Amino acid sequence: MELKSLEPQQLDDFQRIAQASYDQLKEENLSLDLTRGKPSAAQLDLSNELDGILDGFYLLQDGTDVRNYGGILGIPEARHFGAELMGIDSSETMVAGNSSLTLMYNLIAQMLPIWQEQAQAVDNKVKFICLVPGYDRHFTICEHFDIEMINVELKPSGPDMDAIESLLADDEMIKGIWCVPKYSNPTGHTYDKSTVERFARLKDVAGKNFRIMWDNAYLVHHLSDKPDSLHNIMLEAKKAGSEDSLAIFASSSKVTFAGAGIAFYGASEENLGKFEKFLSPQVIGFDKVNQLRHVRFLRDQETLAVHMDKHKDLLKPKFQLVQERLESGIGGLGIAEWTRPNGGYFVSLTTLPGIAGTVVTMAADAGVKLTPAGATFPYGVDAKDTNIRIAPTFPSVGDLEKAMDVLVACLKLASANELLIP
Ligand code: PLP
Repeated sequence: MELKSLEPQQLDDFQRIAQASYDQLKEENLSLDLTRGKPSAAQLDLSNELDGILDGFYLLQDGTDVRNYGGILGIPEARHFGAELMGIDSSETMVAGNSSLTLMYNLIAQMLPIWQEQAQAVDNKVKFICLVPGYDRHFTICEHFDIEMINVELKPSGPDMDAIESLLADDEMIKGIWCVPKYSNPTGHTYDKSTVERFARLKDVAGKNFRIMWDNAYLVHHLSDKPDSLHNIMLEAKKAGSEDSLAIFASSSKVTFAGAGIAFYGASEENLGKFEKFLSPQVIGFDKVNQLRHVRFLRDQETLAVHMDKHKDLLKPKFQLVQERLESGIGGLGIAEWTRPNGGYFVSLTTLPGIAGTVVTMAADAGVKLTPAGATFPYGVDAKDTNIRIAPTFPSVGDLEKAMDVLVACLKLASANELLIP
């Protein structure tokens, strides 16, 4: 029965029981962390073969010694792998460093003077559209560069495209949009085909030098045997003549080692050339030894799929547990909604208005750290105070069970307290 339909006395009773179970959990002095979406040690172990895989062979087919300087765009073998992964050409693919986030940061740094020059000329500010809820580190990059952020809602089929198109048509200083098109962080939603097609045509309404930051961080990170499929945006962009507005990112951070993977950037050859030029004062060449290791280990898309199935086997029980605990704990009470992703690293939970922050604080008081409320919104401000990001990948199943018990207890208590307010 929905909590808000209870008689006052019944709600009082519900609140008292919720308080008692919360107090009891608090006495357990727990210390659990559900904050960041990190792979677990067991997931990292899946890639231990990387260590030593080269066995003294450092030469590429073309004779390049990967131990030496050079090759900002990456080794051909890794570019080919990245191209197949992202569904683009090798000539449009760069493999660089261990972090796609670094590449995103650098792309913004490259574009900023061009954008700012225009902003000054028209006495305006550089702005970005941010889909909410979204990935906090995208927003941090914007804050760092003093780029104003405009929220647009992310729906299950993808972003509100009508809103995006009309914002772009009205303001030529909106210079970019952050997207996680597949198994989005934190909702797990994947954009449908018509959304991807509309993205490819945004250049027609946007001001000059507009960039779609297509952060495909979870493109092969399925949790289900019926994975979501994402339409190929580069194909659509080529049809629309908008390749230059596209910046595609991916990495092996959650495929192999989160801190020692390889990162990919996909763009038109012209944009790739400009980016290479931008990077060249700061780097002579990225770590090609790691690129070769990864190509030897992951080999091709079929081998990669087999490897990702092993991740799925480790992650599926954790995501199932989250669903089961939420369903059995608060299902039918009408106090929260949550996503049921087919992939990615998160579950996004929506509380009653105004209590997400309280739930997070209560959980912290009971020894369970959750991602700070608001973190999934630009400037850390979730105006409705309803979003909580659950990151189940890192803790053990046992720890996750306990943490979910605490989260459910907090949701029940905070919701009852809220409904009891006259
Ligand atoms: N993009 C998204 C959407 C993420 O969730 C993450 C990590 O959580 C990253 C990028 C970071 O990627 P990388 O490790 O390649 O820098």
